[in-house]
Amino acid sequence: MFDTTIAGSLPKPAWLAETHKLWPLWKAEGAELIQAKKDATLLWIKAQEDAGLDIIGDGEQSRQHFVHGFLEQVDGIDFEHKVKMGIRDNRYDAMVPQVVAPLKLRGRVHAMEAQFLRAHTKKKIKFTLPGPMTIVDTVADNHYGDRVKMAMAFAELLNQEALALQADGVDIIQFDEPAFNVYMREAADWGVRALERCVQGLNCTTAVHICYGYGIQANNDWKTKLGEEWRQYELVFPALAKSSIKQVSLECYHSHVPPELMKLLEGKDVMVGVIDVASEEVETAEQVAETIGRALQFVPKNRLFPCTNCGMAPMDREIALRKLEALAKGAALARQRLASG
Ligand code: ZN
Repeated sequence: MFDTTIAGSLPKPAWLAETHKLWPLWKAEGAELIQAKKDATLLWIKAQEDAGLDIIGDGEQSRQHFVHGFLEQVDGIDFEHKVKMGIRDNRYDAMVPQVVAPLKLRGRVHAMEAQFLRAHTKKKIKFTLPGPMTIVDTVADNHYGDRVKMAMAFAELLNQEALALQADGVDIIQFDEPAFNVYMREAADWGVRALERCVQGLNCTTAVHICYGYGIQANNDWKTKLGEEWRQYELVFPALAKSSIKQVSLECYHSHVPPELMKLLEGKDVMVGVIDVASEEVETAEQVAETIGRALQFVPKNRLFPCTNCGMAPMDREIALRKLEALAKGAALARQRLASG
């Protein structure tokens, strides 16, 4: 009960990459960089286990950014000539690569990370991939001329990699779709359909993470404009409830999402965000247990997985570590209370 997990990314150590950045530059190259990525992954596996988490991830230590890490192994994308593009409905500008030809995987994308993770923990492991709609929103299209068509092309490649990850021994494959909270109608219309293409043929646990983004300034500013109640999930969850995706990761703690929207996910496992990634204040176990308690009004206890609201990539490493501990301690406290009462 209350198996704990993280949304995905963790801060990179200062010897691996620049800190406190969303697109950090690596501090090494070639074989030295590969070794440094493995060392950082090992460090975070150990930290997650020591904190007491139940489902372990690689902390996305081997990718510069959660979307572009996947794209680096895709033919048809020009990384040499990045262009400036407003992403997430122009919330912020990013330098993005361009799609210039039909998309094709060059080979495996995350074999090293997934196999390394599997080899170094006996616990269940989760691996994250960017979702097709979010990818489409984070590249410039100079070839397909149609967002849905391009999303479906990406979905096919994601499916190919996901099947291979499953063969590597990954227990949970999660697709990150922050774009679902920006383009809600499109998400319900074709975003979920693209996800279904991603999970075709998988029999491991499948998940989708939908959030209000990393704790960066542009996101914090955007959130102040979303009003008293954030009801974005209301448009997307019914479509997800009907889908074959088994788990949904959502924001809860410190967000303005009405918690009753979780009821729209009947039949799904819910990864409830009990850790705020936009604040440096470390939650207490008591606060985490309280958030779990509130979510239990809408999610059955056997379907509730305490989680972080989003990835922690740009966060201070020490704070992230203490937040992992708070997550595990809070879940333990909630378990204890439920067992006794
Ligand atoms: Zn997120």
